[in-house]
Amino acid sequence: MQTQNESAASTAANARLNAFKSAIETRTNSIAKIKDQFGKESPISEYFGCMTFGLAQMREKLPKDAYSNLLKTLEQGKKLPKETAEAVASAIKEWAITKGVTHYCHWFQPMTGSTAEKHDAFITIQHSNHSELRVIERFTGGQLIQGEPDASSFPSGGMRSTFEARGYTAWDPSSPLFIIEEGNGKTLCIPTVFFGYHGQALDNKTPLLRSTEAISTAGCEFLKLLGDVDVKKISTTLGAEQEYFLVDKNFVALRPDLIMTGRTLVGSPAARGQQLEDHYFGAIPSRITQFMQEVEFELYKLGVPIKTRHNEVAPSQFELAPIFEDMNIASDHNLLTMEVLKRTALKHGLVCLLHEKPFAGVNGSGKHNNWSMANDKGENLLEPGNTPHQNLRFLACLAVTLKAVHDNAAVLRAAIASPGNDHRLGANEAPPAIISAFLGSLLEDILNTIDAGKTLKATEQSIIDLGVNKIPNVSKDYTDRNRTSPFAFTGNKFEFRAVGSTQNVAVPMSILNAAVAASFKECSARLKDLLKKKKRDEAVMELVRQVVKETKHIRFSGNGYSDEWKAEAKKRGLPILNTTPAALEMFKDKKKTQFLVDTNVLTQEEIGSRYHIAVERYVKTLDIEHLALIELAETYVVPAIEKQFAALAAAHAAIPSKATAKLHETRLNTLDTVLGNVLMELEKFKGMIDKSKKSHDEEKRMRDIVDQLQPQSFKLRAACDQAENIVADEFWPLPKYREMLLANTLA
Ligand code: ADP
Ligand code: MG
Repeated sequence: MQTQNESAASTAANARLNAFKSAIETRTNSIAKIKDQFGKESPISEYFGCMTFGLAQMREKLPKDAYSNLLKTLEQGKKLPKETAEAVASAIKEWAITKGVTHYCHWFQPMTGSTAEKHDAFITIQHSNHSELRVIERFTGGQLIQGEPDASSFPSGGMRSTFEARGYTAWDPSSPLFIIEEGNGKTLCIPTVFFGYHGQALDNKTPLLRSTEAISTAGCEFLKLLGDVDVKKISTTLGAEQEYFLVDKNFVALRPDLIMTGRTLVGSPAARGQQLEDHYFGAIPSRITQFMQEVEFELYKLGVPIKTRHNEVAPSQFELAPIFEDMNIASDHNLLTMEVLKRTALKHGLVCLLHEKPFAGVNGSGKHNNWSMANDKGENLLEPGNTPHQNLRFLACLAVTLKAVHDNAAVLRAAIASPGNDHRLGANEAPPAIISAFLGSLLEDILNTIDAGKTLKATEQSIIDLGVNKIPNVSKDYTDRNRTSPFAFTGNKFEFRAVGSTQNVAVPMSILNAAVAASFKECSARLKDLLKKKKRDEAVMELVRQVVKETKHIRFSGNGYSDEWKAEAKKRGLPILNTTPAALEMFKDKKKTQFLVDTNVLTQEEIGSRYHIAVERYVKTLDIEHLALIELAETYVVPAIEKQFAALAAAHAAIPSKATAKLHETRLNTLDTVLGNVLMELEKFKGMIDKSKKSHDEEKRMRDIVDQLQPQSFKLRAACDQAENIVADEFWPLPKYREMLLANTLA
């Protein structure tokens, strides 16, 4: 007969074994569906964007004058005439209904970081003459343009008192509408901004739109001074590479920490992690390829131009990257990408973990934001060109960008602060928590030469001597890369690599755009002065020289992971903000955030509200993690150790020889120490939490958490992980790292 201990053991071990077995079964079902729907031959280009309704579709479907009115509205930022709104709404409805859509929703980006939607059916009841009731489909211009979700449940950071708790959503015509398909129906999503009664931004999209506007205005002024007199518009471009983990759903079902927090709060690293460096760019497991194919298929229909897929550094970590697009659309598309990744994973029996640090001891996930600017001719302003003028413009825009990062490094750091990202930044896997810019040796040489006021010498490789103005001709072939830099130039764009994988990119991008817009403004003013004394090209070169000199400290080409860099950065006076609470402080510094106000991207009131929301989210997120950790320790880890104790004690009593019994005693002693540690750290932790929670001051709680609770939670985790390493595998109830991370290699 089974003893109680044996049956308990078999429950724990069986659950894990079953999860593992099902994790390695290959699934093929979804693939067939993809082929059925469009036939084998159908190229992507044929169905790309078929579930979207943007300007291209509007041009096709709208009456001519309605379309030109809409364009005017977009260009001049005017109110959409009522008749035009009705015409647009009617075209949208016709299109949506032929696609089988029954509902519509205003899709917006509240400050919680994710997206929100409230669905309404198209149907309405019509009263006919004979007081008969008839159900018809209706969609009005008003419904398209404006919505009023019950805003009181979304965070406003104290900006709305209850008596004016209203929030409004308004259609953003610059981003295409799209249809989300679920098994039993389809919903039309209308991208919108979300704002309060007095026009305060309650979302992340509004500041982004304001920031692209700010760059365009300030950038055009600057380029005109440079001689590009016909420039009308500057757009910012973004390509956001998205990293993520995939873990079988059955493992997640057995891990309360993954369910509640999106990351493992305990777990001893597997013997085999990423040491062999065999995962990055390795062959993608078949199950995962099938998942990726479905993700891409769904995203192509939604008009998201996914280009690249590959394995990432850690086992079970992957990446996908789109072709870059206009900032606003790219930002919406990244949110959609995250949604589709999560939804499709579930269909494949997987869970997509977007968290920055789901597993200790292997790399976490980031989202590299490839950022650049283009003029209305589509020319990339950060791309060295073929003509002396293009190169001068390139150098000037590069200098403007360096100045933006130099002047606002602290706020840029704050823009990427989150509890999840705290695990990455500075952890020798992601850029450090110090913002610096990497340019590559070629550009470094060029800037140093300019800085030294020397004549640029022609070298075959990179520079040509243009006589008077000494404008370098920069080779486009950049080969050197620096993985350790948070803000790296990669040939024709900057890559903001420190952004976290869960983040809405609209947040860091609006702050970067604002910084660049402010820098354009200042550089324009200085250039105007220089132009009074010098010829244009010489004045521009002088400005570049001055800015290069002033911003030298922000440039760093060495190893960002090294301790020397931390010391050096300190010497240079660069902000070193290691944690979210330290970074968030920057939002309270009115001088540091003034550029956001000057560029009309955020008001001080909006900055204040964002600060409060970030503090609150930090406290809530970590409170949840801490409670979940306690629950795991008390109801999983300690009981498993107790079982091990019972087994050990029985075994010990049965050992015949004294000599062996003596040796065996070390096992008992070790387990005793481990149990003692877990219980001791647990008690300390609970005591600290109780004490901290007595305070209702959120900022104080935030400081308690970062200074005391977090370090203590790491101690408790370490004790639990020691236990995992000594408790019999069959007694351990939580799926182990090796199972969760390596199962995919067999699938
Ligand atoms: P890399 O190897 O330098 O990362 P890729 O060509 O793979 O270069 O590009 C990475 C990402 O950068 C892609 O999403 C790509 O579309 C994007 N990208 C390329 N050019 C630009 C640009 N001008 N602006 C913004 N993103 C860009
Ligand atoms: Mg890249």
